[in-house]
Amino acid sequence: MSQSSQHSLAQRALELVATVVFAAYALAFTARLAAEAHATPQALSIAAGLVGGYLIADLLSGLAHWVGDRFFEETTPIIGPGFIAPFRQHHVAPEEMVEHGLVELVGNTAVLALPTLAAAFHLLDLASGAPLTLLAGALILSAMVGGVCTNLFHRWAHMERPPRLARWMQALGVVITPERHAVHHSNGFDSSYCITTGWLNAPMDRLGVWAWLERRLHRAGSRAGQKTR
Ligand SMILES: [Zn+2]
Ligand SMILES: [Zn+2]
Repeated sequence: MSQSSQHSLAQRALELVATVVFAAYALAFTARLAAEAHATPQALSIAAGLVGGYLIADLLSGLAHWVGDRFFEETTPIIGPGFIAPFRQHHVAPEEMVEHGLVELVGNTAVLALPTLAAAFHLLDLASGAPLTLLAGALILSAMVGGVCTNLFHRWAHMERPPRLARWMQALGVVITPERHAVHHSNGFDSSYCITTGWLNAPMDRLGVWAWLERRLHRAGSRAGQKTR
């Protein structure tokens, strides 16, 4: 067996384990929060945390996608092959991700999100029922679950015939819809980067946030270049 196939086998095993353990933590976390939602302040705190965390997931998806599309190269050491290349490849062949399996879609994000979710689960004293603690817990749970599910939702947006659950969630607007995501693929790949729900795409595109950030970074980069000359 070659070294690279051994590596990809090890990587796939890691992603599979991370996905299963992440799902177990997410279910246990949800059960703990549900057990504390017995009074209005607690229920409201959990609801606010879930909505806030889901917005954070959408923002993080936009940030990762923006960096993947606009910076570095597929040949960049360390992040090139595993992080940059999939984003670039997706523009050339968007239909390819429809063929990807569940672990291939969510595994690498589960590896990144699992330590945060596990730490929050063990360190937050959810049983205290303190509204702020419950808000923090719900926020982290929702952001991590939304983040891990992002590629799945993205895949649904590219499917000709998505599963019934996907169609239902798309109709409710709680996952990225094909229409919302089509803006990214049909506008030169320089807007609408958020791919969890796409809720933030309209305001961020309208305010020109990504273009503004790019100008700031380029300016800071050229200033740093001048100083080192
Ligand atoms: Zn896409
Ligand atoms: Zn893109």
